[in-house]
Amino acid sequence: MKIMVSGTVQGVGFRPTVYRVAKKLGLRGFVLNKGSNVEIGLVNGAGNGDSVADFMDMLNEKLPPLAAIDKIEVKDEPVTGYDDFRILMSSEGRKTSVTPVDTAICDACIHELFDPADHRYLYPFINCTSCGARFSVIKNVPYDRVNTSMQEFQMCENCLTEYKDPMDRRFHAQTTSCPRCGPTYTLYDKNRSVIDARDPIRTFARLIDEGALGIAKSWGGMHLLGTFEQADRVRALYRRPSKPLAVMFRDVPAIEQHLNLTEHEERLLRSPQRPIVLLEKKSMLDSGDLAEISPGLSTVGVYVPYSGLHHVLFHHLKAHGILMTSANVPGEPMTVSNEEAFNLTADYFLLHNRAIVNRLDDSVVKCYGARNQFLRRSRGFVPTALTVPYTEQILSLGAMENVSSSISKDGKLYTSQYIGSTFHYPTLEFLAAGTEQLLNLLGLAMEDIDAIGVDVHPGYATKRYGKSLAEEYSIELVPVQHHWAHAAALMLDNGVEEVMALTLDGTGYGLDKKAWGGELLFANYYSFERVGSLEEIPLIGGEMAIRDPRRLLFAVYSLLSREHDASRWVSDPEADIMAKLMRTAPLTSSFGRVLDALACYLGICQRMTYDGEPAMKLERYLARGEHTYAFETSVDAADRKIVRTLPLFDQLADYRISTEQEKADIAYSFVETLLQELLEIAADVCESTGVQTIGITGGVSYDLPIVSMAERLVKEKGFTFLTHDRIPNGDGGISVGQNVIVGGTFKG
Ligand SMILES: [Zn+2]
Ligand SMILES: [Zn+2]
Repeated sequence: MKIMVSGTVQGVGFRPTVYRVAKKLGLRGFVLNKGSNVEIGLVNGAGNGDSVADFMDMLNEKLPPLAAIDKIEVKDEPVTGYDDFRILMSSEGRKTSVTPVDTAICDACIHELFDPADHRYLYPFINCTSCGARFSVIKNVPYDRVNTSMQEFQMCENCLTEYKDPMDRRFHAQTTSCPRCGPTYTLYDKNRSVIDARDPIRTFARLIDEGALGIAKSWGGMHLLGTFEQADRVRALYRRPSKPLAVMFRDVPAIEQHLNLTEHEERLLRSPQRPIVLLEKKSMLDSGDLAEISPGLSTVGVYVPYSGLHHVLFHHLKAHGILMTSANVPGEPMTVSNEEAFNLTADYFLLHNRAIVNRLDDSVVKCYGARNQFLRRSRGFVPTALTVPYTEQILSLGAMENVSSSISKDGKLYTSQYIGSTFHYPTLEFLAAGTEQLLNLLGLAMEDIDAIGVDVHPGYATKRYGKSLAEEYSIELVPVQHHWAHAAALMLDNGVEEVMALTLDGTGYGLDKKAWGGELLFANYYSFERVGSLEEIPLIGGEMAIRDPRRLLFAVYSLLSREHDASRWVSDPEADIMAKLMRTAPLTSSFGRVLDALACYLGICQRMTYDGEPAMKLERYLARGEHTYAFETSVDAADRKIVRTLPLFDQLADYRISTEQEKADIAYSFVETLLQELLEIAADVCESTGVQTIGITGGVSYDLPIVSMAERLVKEKGFTFLTHDRIPNGDGGISVGQNVIVGGTFKG
């Protein structure tokens, strides 16, 4: 009989496990990779029924840690001609699922890495069947060496022996290599002169300890490295005046010296996916070495070594933690090629000679209790699939910022790696390349796509790209409203089919052509109703009001006829210009903009220098505030309920605020009042329709004190509260939401 197994079954040590189990049970037959599945053939014989059941039981029991079986199909086809059990060469087959993810170096490999007697001692490309770079090096499926960038490196006799031995840890480890036959690192200075080709990592580590800035090539891209003291230099050179930088620590105990972490956060940090996790600083006043890493924020993004290079680097480094942040030309995706690396500003370049096939940024997660809030879902998680309730092949392209693309096939939804913000042409090119590669790995061509989902915003580059594909291949283009897509992503994440979604973010294009962002959507996959929103306020100068939140305050206080309070924020000439611009300013119901204005008013953030900065800086105030100020507002009824925000700003201006705690309490009281009103509306609609679940989504839901307030208020009203766990809350999740909504159009 033949057994077809689909899921994460290639490149994770699945076939060797099948082999060992079959051998143990004395079964005859074969195992082979077929497309992206694994086929097992068992010779029929006496007592076969029992042994097949035993076989499946034992296989499940011995399943390698990274393998995941999604589906098993058993066919009663006779298998003959085998007097033993064998692992056969891959055959081309139907491609149904994709490659395994990039996985942190396993403990067994780390043990060898630091064993002076091992021939892979301090070898930075060490890996085995259970670990290493995979998605970042794969060109095509099936996952075999010839289809990866390791193809150029011919295995030496030793490696080949391990590769062929079913009992070896490196049996069929497609990217296996050793110092004799594998890729190598070389250290260059900024003039591209080779500094050290013999012990480049040791020399690089010494230079970093001494204060140099370095570029190091890893699995899926380049990182910029330096000691904490180099933060100012990085900020100046890379035009990141206050954007938080990521830090890699030697190990978890080194992290615990500086930051608080929960058990869940520790597990995540040590997991094979090994994302960057945002952790809370022990003390805001005395964050010591870390003060300049994330100015004004209560958290720092940290991770621990995942590649052989990182482990070897820390072996040589004196520092227990270093800046290690994506290296890119400002506005462009992370640098991947050696040639382009030299366009980056740094003192030294530690580069290897293996091509990066698929750019893969580090994933970034913030934990709400034991739930993962993905700011960026990439290395370690891509391309794992989610199950969706439709079988059409749908491509969806996201919105404008933090874009990803998603493709559905056979009831599974695959999302690309993190792409970035498509204001910039190179990022749009990356979106096209990433989408094409995902199609390829799924065995699909554009001709196979049934529909393309895009945002309704007419100006988004992703929409133009989707439209051009739709025209070229005569595919239906389905525009999906931004916040509905957020709500759909939240539903899929939680396995529910309808939700009252508190959809709070910066901006998304509304069906009335206005900028939405503080919305209560009663949604399922087929339709949605906007039952409530925040009052609209003018965005003076459009996008300019996002970077310069003083404009929001000027608008708010002008509308309240509090000229004195309005003019506090701007010079007289500015006030004249803004007053004129205000008449034609676009309107927004965005919750994010209200937070921006509040943060600006409280002196917490006067200018936005990176996406979400004011709201992020407000977060630590909300975290220690209490509802001690009595704010009151009202709700207007129109086609929807509108929660008024101006009365809150009116009351705000009457308070005298001097201490940091007063700022915290004011911020908390202000925000909770808004949430109370929105959730009051939500509860009314839920009660009249019988819906039990109220959830939160959108970029504002990365602000954990806000999520926590919402959860408490929702539960007090007796409803179930939903938040994200697997799909990004922000625009990284939009392509997922678009996909399921477009999928819904094929039903009925
Ligand atoms: Zn390993
Ligand atoms: Zn070798």
